[in-house]
This record gives sequence, C-alpha cells and structure tokens, in this order.
Amino acid sequence: MTDDIQVLIIGAGPTGLTLAVELARRGVPLRIIDAAQEPSPHSRALTIHAKSLELMEDMGLLEEFLSAGTRIHALNVYAEGKRLTHLSFEDGSSTFPFVLSIPQSDTERILTEALKRFGVEVERGVRLERLTVVHPELASAQLTLADGSPEELEVSWVVGCDGAHGVVRGELGLELEGRAHQENFAIADVHIAWSMPDDEMLSFLSPEGTLAMLPTPGEGRYRIVAEVGQGEEFDPSLDGLQKLIKRSAMRATLSDPTWITNFRIHRQMVRRYRKGPVFLAGDAAHVHSPIGGQGLNTGVQDAYNLAWKLALVVQKHAYVSLLDSYEAERLPIAASTLESTDRATRAISLRSGLSQQLRSNLASVLSNFEVIQQRLTDRLGMLNLNYRQSPIVDQHREAITSARLLPSRSSEAPSWRDWVDFGAAPVPGDRIPDVVYDENPDRSPKRLFSLLKDTRHHLLLFDGQAQTSEGYRNMERVGRLVQNRFGHHMQVHMIIPGSRRPATLRWRGSVVQDVDSALHQRFGAGADCLYLIRPDGYIAYRSQPSDMRLLFRYLDRIFI
Ligand SMILES: Cc1cc2nc3c(=O)[nH]c(=O)nc-3n(C[C@H](O)[C@H](O)[C@H](O)COP(=O)(O)OP(=O)(O)OC[C@H]3O[C@@H](n4cnc5c(N)ncnc54)[C@H](O)[C@@H]3O)c2cc1C
Repeated sequence: MTDDIQVLIIGAGPTGLTLAVELARRGVPLRIIDAAQEPSPHSRALTIHAKSLELMEDMGLLEEFLSAGTRIHALNVYAEGKRLTHLSFEDGSSTFPFVLSIPQSDTERILTEALKRFGVEVERGVRLERLTVVHPELASAQLTLADGSPEELEVSWVVGCDGAHGVVRGELGLELEGRAHQENFAIADVHIAWSMPDDEMLSFLSPEGTLAMLPTPGEGRYRIVAEVGQGEEFDPSLDGLQKLIKRSAMRATLSDPTWITNFRIHRQMVRRYRKGPVFLAGDAAHVHSPIGGQGLNTGVQDAYNLAWKLALVVQKHAYVSLLDSYEAERLPIAASTLESTDRATRAISLRSGLSQQLRSNLASVLSNFEVIQQRLTDRLGMLNLNYRQSPIVDQHREAITSARLLPSRSSEAPSWRDWVDFGAAPVPGDRIPDVVYDENPDRSPKRLFSLLKDTRHHLLLFDGQAQTSEGYRNMERVGRLVQNRFGHHMQVHMIIPGSRRPATLRWRGSVVQDVDSALHQRFGAGADCLYLIRPDGYIAYRSQPSDMRLLFRYLDRIFI
C-alpha cells in the first residue's frame, strides 16, 4: 500500500469534497484527485436544503454557507396570472426554515477551504485511468498526474465521486440504468428588474411550458429555468430569455446574463453502490431531474453517510460489515428521490388543457392544508428521509402486558401511557429532532444538535419520571461500561428531568438537566429508556427500559 493513505477519493465536486472533509475531520489519511485543472466557475446546483444545512452546521461550516448564500422562504406557483399555491418553508420541522440559494462554485470553494484547514489539498489535473479490485479490502489505481506522468497506487478504499461521466462506475462493470427524459430545459443566471419579492421561488405553469425563477445572491439576481417544448429551439441570448419570461405574464426586464445554457433531463441510477473496496457516491451513482434541486443534496448526504462508517472501519473501531449498510441505506433513498423528482417533472410538463386544469385545481386545494404544507416542506428539505429499513438500526421494547396500568414515581417500570408515548416517539432509522430545551431557567434555551455536535455516537440515558436509587445505579452502570469500552467514539449523557441533580446520581460525565422536560416528552421518555444516536444524527438503537445486556448485544454486532 502507498504510504499510509487509507482512502482515495476520485472527484472534487460537492460529494467528493464533503467526504474528504468528513474523513479529514476524523483523522483518516486520504488523497482526493480531480481531473479538471480548475474548479468549474459555473453556478450549476444552487439549492441547499434544510437537511444539508444541518450537516454543514455539524461540519462547522454553517456561517460560511449562510453568509455566501441567500435565504428563500417560500415557493409560489402561478397559472394564468393567478397564484395557486404559496408554500411557506417556515412550516417545516427544521431549525432552518428556508432553502439556501448558493452557487455550486461557492459550495465547492467553502468545502475546499475547510479541507485545506485539515492540511489536505485537492490534487488537480490528476486523472484516474484504470481501477482494479485486488481483494475485498484492496484496490489498485492507475493515475495520470498533472505533469502527464503515470502513477500506480494500491489503497484500501476508493470512493468514486466522479460524477455522471466518471470512469469508476465503468471500471466496476456498473452502468447508470433508467431512461433519459425527453424534456429539455433552458437555464440562465440573470438580473431581473420587476416588482416580485426577492426571497421567494416562483413557478409559472403555462401551456408553452413551465418557467421557474429562483433568487440567487446579489441584488435582483435570479436563476431562470424554463422548459423548452419538443421540436423548439432555445435561443441562448437575452432576447431568447425575454421571450421565455413572457410565460410569467409579469412585467420584467432582463439584463446582465452571466450564464446561459440548456440541458436534457436524465433519470438514471446504478444497481450497486459498492464492489469490494470501491464505493460510488453522488452523481456517479444517480442522476436526477433538477426539479426540486435534490441532486447535489443527495450526493452530499451520500458522503456524510459513508464518511463516519469508513472512518470507524479504517480506525478499527467497527467491523468491515458496517460498510454494507451504506448501500442498504443510500440506494433506496436515491431510488425514491428519483421517483419523486420524476413525478414532479412530469406534473410540471403536462401539456393537455384538461390535465393542466386538474393540476392547477389540485395544487390550489392541497396548499390550503397546513399538514400538507408541513409535509411538502419537510419533503423538499429532505427531512422526512429515514433509514428505518437499515440492517444496522434496531430497538427493544417490552410487551405492553409488562407495563403498569398507572404511573408510579417509586418504580422504574413503564406505565401504559409511557409505553404508548415511547411507541409514538422517533424510531430507529429516524432523524432525531432538534429539540430546544431549557437546562437552566435563567439562561437561554439549548438545542439538542449543539449537545451532539461532534464526530462521535451519543448515548442518551433518560431517567424518566420515577426517581429511584436503583434506576440511577442502572444508568451509571450502563454509562460506565459504554464509556470504558467505546469511550473513544461514543459519549454518554444522563438526561434528568427537572432542575435538581439527584443526590444519589454520582455520574461524573455529561448530565443534562431537562428542566422543562422537552427532551423527555419528544423522546417519549416517561419511563427510563435509552437512545443511541449515530454521528449523522439518526437513531441507531433504542430500548425501553435501558437494558444493558441487550444494548451490548447490539453494540457487539457493530463495534470491535
Ligand atoms: C445546470 C445544472 C443545474 C443544477 N441544479 C441543481 C440544483 O439546483 N440543486 C441540486 O441539488 N443539484 C443541481 N444540479 C446537479 C448537481 O450539479 C450535481 O448533482 C452535483 O454536481 C453532483 O456532485 P458530484 O460531486 O457528485 O459530481 P460532480 O459535481 O459532477 O463532480 C465530479 C468531479 O469528478 C471529476 N472527475 C470526473 N472523472 C474523473 C477522473 N477520471 N479522474 C479524476 N476526476 C474525475 C470531475 O472533474 C468533477 O470535478 C444541477 C446540475 C446542472 C448541470
């Protein structure tokens, strides 16, 4: 193997860069190469959704993203000069009630600079030519370096983040399957002088094809995306754009175009995300319709999912089998994202008069329901995605027959009510909610995400309402054993309701006073229970009650 490099990343787009930052943050030795001499200057993907903002915050990059981007608070859909729908992103369940509009070139710049702070440089002008799987934990890569000389290296793990036209997929004998759409879209970044709000997305449904406008950073600047009809030719000039914008039936003057292009939509993905020591992530594994702006976000989240697993395996804290869960978790997400963006693309591309009428009526009726607004916002923000079917998530609950009819403060056994509340709380595979809780009534409230903001797993041991010394002894025993065996990559927190620390609790580690019981309520923790949270913010395991034997049975499956 070459030096101590453990991971070779092919491609420094948003997916490869996110993976590199996440691995570097965990101290994994890596190389990241990109065939292009320079990063692309084009804006391309603009939208960063709530889920991706949550992970940028975890990576410590939130402020840089927020200051380089512009916040979009709502989506409006118009037809025939009338507004059909106003979808406010304020109604979602994220701390970030907006979509961030930021050019992909800025996203890549922020990630590249973050990587440099870890002492890792993108090797530009370096191309992967051939890739061979030597054995399940070793690959051999042939590169052409920036000066044209060849290099051959052997490395434990390779991740192909080389985009839709990359070579890794082909070297593995995989291909993007599915169909290429007929739809043709024009894209332009321009200045628009008009009277519309500059913090809302606009979509105009018209018989000539849909037109969408997305504010971008800079006074009066917008991204225009317009469907080009079959057999029509798009004129990539200001005049051509001015014609397209007539579909909005608004008075608008365009000027100063910085990018005009057009593209055809594909809906394709691979059947496998991994062959032995080689993984695929981002556009190398799936290409989408840009409707909903999910492409970049899905790639970044692939990388975020793979990074912590790869780091634990490389550092010999977890079994290699943990890596099987990458494909098991991410491939179904790509498949369902492809399906939903495909449906949305078809809906906006309807041409017959009757179907357009039906679509307009439906859009206007649905948007009047608050619950539908929230679901749509969470869906767009990618907050509703879960890994409930993953092979590495699990839970244990006693049968309801073991629960007591009425609550008691002197027994740790759950009541019926506690049993039901635990059942209704987030389950393994769900993203944890960013609960805001009071730890000290005299200070400002805290966020759960801030408590969990590092690269480790977090074990939350909930006290529940009963306060027995037997209960505290059990919590401390579980906490101590986990800390002793897995303390390097797992942190234990005792979550205690109320403002007073119980005299019999001797735990010296993290104790969270849940003064307003917000955490207990959100996690259905009326009785003693535990939740293990993964580094990517999803629930790995939970149990009611906190049973040490069963917890260790779960941990022993995954961790060494
Ligand atoms: C016009 C347009 C608008 C879009 N709008 C949105 C949007 O609003 N929201 C959204 O989420 N997505 C959008 N997308 C999609 C988004 O741009 C992609 O999903 C995203 O770039 C994928 O990132 P990636 O890192 O996986 O791949 P890429 O960005 O394609 O990066 C792959 C990298 O690999 C390098 N590479 C390729 N082959 C090799 C090799 N052999 N050796 C070394 N390096 C190699 C390439 O040079 C490239 O830098 C848009 C795309 C386009 C084209």
